[in-house]
Amino acid sequence: MESRRLFLLDEILEKPLIMSRDKTTRIFGIESTGREMSLKGYVESESRKDSFHRVEVTYLPASMHLASGTCSCEAYQFYGFPCKHMERVRNVYVKNLKRFDNKNEAYSK
Ligand SMILES: [Zn+2]
Repeated sequence: MESRRLFLLDEILEKPLIMSRDKTTRIFGIESTGREMSLKGYVESESRKDSFHRVEVTYLPASMHLASGTCSCEAYQFYGFPCKHMERVRNVYVKNLKRFDNKNEAYSK
């Protein structure tokens, strides 16, 4: 069924809204449904540089708990939900939120 598992960078057409500093994680879709937060993105493969997994994940902001998701990686295809790429997308998103929130509190820590 899954014809493609890895995407090359120039095949990724979606423009990233958030990119991790090391550029391995790119989030292009952010949608809040109130209780849940849905994210779409790409995470670079650890074994194959310049190749990306496509990730979709929904989590609960209150608890950080992953609720559902899909990923094009082998671990997800084999073991199912969740995989480390889903956690990575959530963590990069949360980290960037904190960066915005803490901008004026940088000197208070
Ligand atoms: Zn994965």
